[in-house]
Amino acid sequence: MFDTGYTDESGFSELINAAEDTLQGIDLVKQKKDMEIFFKELATESGKVSYGEDNVRTNLEIKAVDMLLLSEDLRSERLSLKCSVCGYESNRTRKWRPGDSVPVAGNCPECGSELDITGVIDIVGELSELADKGSAGVVFMSTDFYEGSQLMISFGGVAAILRYITGV
Ligand SMILES: [Zn+2]
Repeated sequence: MFDTGYTDESGFSELINAAEDTLQGIDLVKQKKDMEIFFKELATESGKVSYGEDNVRTNLEIKAVDMLLLSEDLRSERLSLKCSVCGYESNRTRKWRPGDSVPVAGNCPECGSELDITGVIDIVGELSELADKGSAGVVFMSTDFYEGSQLMISFGGVAAILRYITGV
């Protein structure tokens, strides 16, 4: 199938390139299929989809997720913030896209001092781990095709196909 007609080294690397292109093609077809399932469930209002980080996390925690869909463009971290002056603490999710400048922690809403970042959780890592625990599949969606870019633009880069209706 990948016969290039050469037996020397350049033929071999051609073979590898051809195989890689095919694998990327197969991967993209699978991504498209999974996004199509998501949009179909969404359009028919079956209740078996969830989107947005908080909703999807809840569904992952109760092991209701069949397929977790994460955008490859998603850069999201959950920060633990603390004010060293007055002791104020909070958690915040920050998101950015490649090329954006990284947002700063900001100032304490209580006293106005600069907040310290005391902890950072990588959302993609966290959600993937939860998916693993609940035996859910994980698909990283490219934004190189329409449905994949919609996942990032319209759904914050996080969506799930559910095993059953949870109402979340
Ligand atoms: Zn403060």
